[in-house]
Amino acid sequence: MRNIILIAAPAAGKGTLSEMLVERHGYVHISTGDLLRSASTSNTELGKKISEMLSRGELVTDNIVFQLLEDRLKQDDIKNGFILDGFPRTIEQAKEYGEIASRLNIDLGVVIVLESNYETLKKRIVGRMLCKTCGSVYNTLTGVNTPKLENVCDKCGGSLYKRSDDNEESFKTRYDTYLEKTKSLIEFYQNMGILHFVNSDSKESMLEGVEGYLND
Ligand code: AMP
Repeated sequence: MRNIILIAAPAAGKGTLSEMLVERHGYVHISTGDLLRSASTSNTELGKKISEMLSRGELVTDNIVFQLLEDRLKQDDIKNGFILDGFPRTIEQAKEYGEIASRLNIDLGVVIVLESNYETLKKRIVGRMLCKTCGSVYNTLTGVNTPKLENVCDKCGGSLYKRSDDNEESFKTRYDTYLEKTKSLIEFYQNMGILHFVNSDSKESMLEGVEGYLND
């Protein structure tokens, strides 16, 4: 299966799509947001620095992201195909990723852009709640996956929390950054002839749309 680079606004369905592709096709899901959140919990100067940047909704410094990503891509489990989620976000990152990929002999694969509208995305973000214990995702605004009891996970009874950057102000920053920075990124991959747009309003059509581009 081809490696996938996913480009999408916050909450456009990257997580949902990735989960389906992991389950159905054995992809490995690599999210730079997850790599950074995990690094931010280490009790070091670097961990604290990352944590501050994340809670402001700003992009984390390139060199930090490149190092975390290259380390991850050196692991053997990526050989049967991986989904890159949240990276590259800028043209500079795309160029550096080209270097990393050729150093590690990795094929770029296919670039998928998930499309959705602003209001839908805002509700998904501002209403999002996660289970501390099992990681299940809920939403208190969209009417989809509303928890039965307030702040309690339906599946395991664990308590629900909000990511610190899942608020309206931070969403707006993240969305504006997305538009501003990814425009040239989309052009960059379009010029390479490896980019495709897929509508992400429904789970099923999103999956079907993406699956059309995965075979070598
Ligand atoms: P995400 O989980 O993809 O929504 O990312 C959450 C946050 O992690 C973003 O708002 C950024 O602060 C940071 N982040 C994730 N990926 C990158 C990246 N490629 N470059 C810089 N910062 C990133």
